[in-house]
Amino acid sequence: MVTDRRSPSGGLEGSRCSGCSVTVYPADEACPRCGGPAEPAGLSGRGTLWTWTVQRYAPKSPPYRVPAGGFAPFALGYVELAEGVRVAAVLEVDDLDDIRIGMPLTVTGGRGVPRARALDPGEEGS
Ligand SMILES: [Zn+2]
Repeated sequence: MVTDRRSPSGGLEGSRCSGCSVTVYPADEACPRCGGPAEPAGLSGRGTLWTWTVQRYAPKSPPYRVPAGGFAPFALGYVELAEGVRVAAVLEVDDLDDIRIGMPLTVTGGRGVPRARALDPGEEGS
């Protein structure tokens, strides 16, 4: 079964191998581990920060588009989701000093690079 729907919450659409069950993001028709066929799989978006870095200068443009307010350093990280897949995402935090490996994050997809933000207090475990 092949579906091509976007979840309204900006959820992440990955894929899961029908052979060895490995999950990948972004979605791929073939499993990178065993080469078997993979089917679309919605990902929870819930995970923890695996590693990260700070981009302190503007990337090459194009393809990077400098925002209207000018470039500001931002954090990029890998979020390890509950499904076991690591997703590269821009970390949306108020203060770069607040970033900690292992912090709980929610990743949302959509256009361009996925975005990850910290869970609000009370949102955890819901
Ligand atoms: Zn596989």
